[in-house]
Amino acid sequence: MKFGGSSLATAAKFNHVVGLIEHQTVPVCGVFSAPQGVTNSLADLIAMIQAQQDITPQLDLISQNLLTISTDCASLRDGFDASHNHLQTTELLEDLRSLAQGCLLIGHCPKVTAAQIYSTGEKFSTLLMAALLRTKSKVTVIDPKHFLTTEDFSDEPIADIEQSVQLFKQHYADAEEVAVMPGFYGVNPAGDLCLLGRNGSDYSAAILAVCTAATVCEIWTDVDGIYSVDPRLVAQAQLIKQMSYQEAMELSYFGAKILHPKTITPLSKHQIQCVIKNTLNPAHAGTLISAKTDKEKAVKAISNLSDVAMINVSGPGMKGMVGMAARVFASMSEANISVILISQSSSEYSISFCVPGEEADLAVKRLNQSFKLELKNALLEPIQCRKDLAIITLIGDRMHQQKGTASRFFSALSHARVNIIAIAQDSSERSISAVVRAKRVDDAVVICHQQLFLKKPRIDAFLIGCGTVGHELIQQINKQKDWLKSKEVELNLVGIANSRQCLLSANGIDLDQWQAQLARCEEGLSLDRLKQFVRSAHLTNPVIIDCTSNQEIAMNYLSYLEANFHVVTANKKANTDSLTYYHQLQNMAAKRQRRFLYETNVGAGLPVIDNLQSLLRAGDQLLQFEGILSGSLSYIFGEIHQGLSLSEATLKAKKLGYTEPNPAEDLNGMDVARKVLVIAREAGMELELSDVDLQAVVPAHLAAMTDGEQFMHQLPEYDASFQKLIDDAESKGEKLRYVALIKDHKCAVKIQSVGPDHPLYEIEAGENALAINTLYYQPKPFIIRGYGAGAEVTAAGLFGDLLRTLAWEQEH
Ligand code: ADP
Ligand code: ASP
Ligand code: MG
Repeated sequence: MKFGGSSLATAAKFNHVVGLIEHQTVPVCGVFSAPQGVTNSLADLIAMIQAQQDITPQLDLISQNLLTISTDCASLRDGFDASHNHLQTTELLEDLRSLAQGCLLIGHCPKVTAAQIYSTGEKFSTLLMAALLRTKSKVTVIDPKHFLTTEDFSDEPIADIEQSVQLFKQHYADAEEVAVMPGFYGVNPAGDLCLLGRNGSDYSAAILAVCTAATVCEIWTDVDGIYSVDPRLVAQAQLIKQMSYQEAMELSYFGAKILHPKTITPLSKHQIQCVIKNTLNPAHAGTLISAKTDKEKAVKAISNLSDVAMINVSGPGMKGMVGMAARVFASMSEANISVILISQSSSEYSISFCVPGEEADLAVKRLNQSFKLELKNALLEPIQCRKDLAIITLIGDRMHQQKGTASRFFSALSHARVNIIAIAQDSSERSISAVVRAKRVDDAVVICHQQLFLKKPRIDAFLIGCGTVGHELIQQINKQKDWLKSKEVELNLVGIANSRQCLLSANGIDLDQWQAQLARCEEGLSLDRLKQFVRSAHLTNPVIIDCTSNQEIAMNYLSYLEANFHVVTANKKANTDSLTYYHQLQNMAAKRQRRFLYETNVGAGLPVIDNLQSLLRAGDQLLQFEGILSGSLSYIFGEIHQGLSLSEATLKAKKLGYTEPNPAEDLNGMDVARKVLVIAREAGMELELSDVDLQAVVPAHLAAMTDGEQFMHQLPEYDASFQKLIDDAESKGEKLRYVALIKDHKCAVKIQSVGPDHPLYEIEAGENALAINTLYYQPKPFIIRGYGAGAEVTAAGLFGDLLRTLAWEQEH
């Protein structure tokens, strides 16, 4: 049973571990790490020695930490020999002090001494555990110095298992049924103390398991077992019940901190099971690592290895030169540099491989020495080294049986817009790795996990503008959340902003509380703030929903798209700005592979843009368009044929909330002009807003009024003239409509008198209607009709667009 530092952070935790060991009904040996943080403190101490700094405070800190744990144990256990343990701890700390001060005097810290200093934490844990266990059992303290030998002098040495087994037998044939041993160190071939590398106590336990011919090697840590991905990075990580030795080996080799990479090899060779268990949740079965794997999933896990460098050896001299690869890798092995991954290269002219970042400079130096001649004669290009990279790896025994895994892996990376620098696959197809920039590796892991394990499409939405439409959309999202979940779609509203404040929450805002929470926010919305938030929360499918009619926000869409947001908008200002901006938006969306969706720009929730786009994609062309595009004007024009004057009808509409606060903004026709321009541009016409021939409902001096009250006061002046238009129409059996037109590549907006044969004659007050003539739809137009205004239908239209951002995700 090996207990990691996280299981040994305090006296209470030591006492808890004692309980777990005592609970065993078979002979058991505990292997212990240093208490949490102690190895790091010792590493800092060594760094201070090397920098010739004052080490007294650091020594005091370490002593204090260890003595506190030891002293605190006295009250936790009856029969605990506190004074003896105190004495042992003090001696250990005195040794540490002398070693450290000696090194400080001579100005450096030899490797053997550093190993002695580093091993203090593990020695402390073991002495304390022995003392605690002795309250109930006889205990043998096993010293790795007597048996755990290594084959080489490197920083990550390999154990000499055969010799270790023999020595163990010689020394510990008579061990008690409870034994304890410090992890992390052994002896090198010269007989000196040496470390097994950081996290090495796992390896110590595996070696001891072989030496004792154990039935099982348990690694007790702070999580329930091995997860499909580091649970610190991805909250939805899935626990793996069972995996094969090979899978666990690949996982740890490619960076999963849960196991030291060398741990599994000796266990696999001797067919000893390994179980990962949680000290804080001992009842949980944990993860079983054995010769078998469970058959459920082809891809078991994703891991990532940070801080690697990629070295490239290339040049014309490589072609046909026998033994080049052997020479490259021999020079790495002579320098004791481990080659993590070798990538296939498209030409025979180059070899690319990854090494740990900290060894990159040495690797280049060695290669330059080994190939001095070839480099001088230009048979080789200068050795290239690319730093700050990381490797992301998919692991699973049965991956080779499942088609398409690699393509899903790479498409997930491309979806996260993570550039792949190199690819490697092991020959048994148990792992596939991609080398990426270190900066992007966390994002890459998150999105790969999402797409390969959760398979739940996910939207992270930011809503701007909490007026009636924004408010309604929040309610609709809240109402539909569970339904979406049942359809395996995860929609999170992670941001809500009004003109002054911006509320952000990475796991989704509580939509029953958003108003109160937003009111407490002090900082407002900014592109930089959102970008930073998206980065730190690793959001991969962020969507901006603009529910405002604000010009400034519309002018930010380009930056949002550039920053990989999808943009969904009800705001017409962007699409009716200059043609240049219009094209920039379309191009940026295509370049970034993001959606720019604005269905609600025309006819609110009515499916206008989407239908038009589908037709155009199928080769159709817009020939002519006629439509009623304003809900408020449609209502007003309906009422005037019921006998109301223009001002009476407008007042009624205003009272019902169908108009803008200043109805001049409806009656000036500008909104309709914007809508018809959106349709025209969609159909490929290169027009500006000023090209729309706009005839307002009311004369120019009224249309330009900015004060709503005054406008309503003055509007009746125009009633008489307008009544003439109504009477004229009615005398011919026709009706007045406020119509938007597209014909012969021109747009117009005007009052028109239409007869019973006209498609817009029947339209009822408040409805929108669009009659679209195309190549495919003629002579009878294709008609879309229904309520084209109001918070509910507009929000529903935005909701539809929001879900369309997923279509992109599934298609690509
Ligand atoms: P200990 O102190 O017990 O040796 P470590 O910190 O060395 O613990 O290892 C346990 C940690 O490994 C977990 O807390 C977890 O954050 C991390 N980890 C990384 N990858 C995985 C994974 N795939 N499954 C479980 N844990 C993982
Ligand atoms: N204490 C050592 C380390 O932190 C060894 C281990 O915990 O496995 O690296
Ligand atoms: Mg560990």
